[in-house]
Amino acid sequence: MADTVFGKIVRGEIPAQKVWDDELCIAIRDINPKAPTHILVIPRDPIETVDDVPEEKKSLLGHLTWVATELARREGLAKEGYRLVWNCRANAGQDVPHIHLHLLGGRRMSWPPG
Ligand code: 5GP
Repeated sequence: MADTVFGKIVRGEIPAQKVWDDELCIAIRDINPKAPTHILVIPRDPIETVDDVPEEKKSLLGHLTWVATELARREGLAKEGYRLVWNCRANAGQDVPHIHLHLLGGRRMSWPPG
């Protein structure tokens, strides 16, 4: 499996603004934020895309989602609302092949996405 920038961040080899750290995942502030709050929840397990999560690891997706909602509460986003996004492969514009859940909030967002 190819190493990525998120693998290096998970291992502490390159710095990031970390807002969560547990045995399954970390969360960091996006280096190029697309909203006033833009956090990436990244599992330690370097699965390439959300389509590659095997059934025996499906509970990881629940954990990552719960971490994102907890961070949204801590960031004060829960009342006004926020968006959680999985980009999967080329059509969604996934750039980094190590799964990551985007938490975006702090402004009104359009729907459907462009
Ligand atoms: P994707 O397009 O793969 O769903 O999202 C990748 C995200 O990772 C982008 O929003 C991009 O700004 C962010 N990103 C890429 N490299 C780095 C990095 O080195 N550090 C941080 N904190 N974010 C990164």
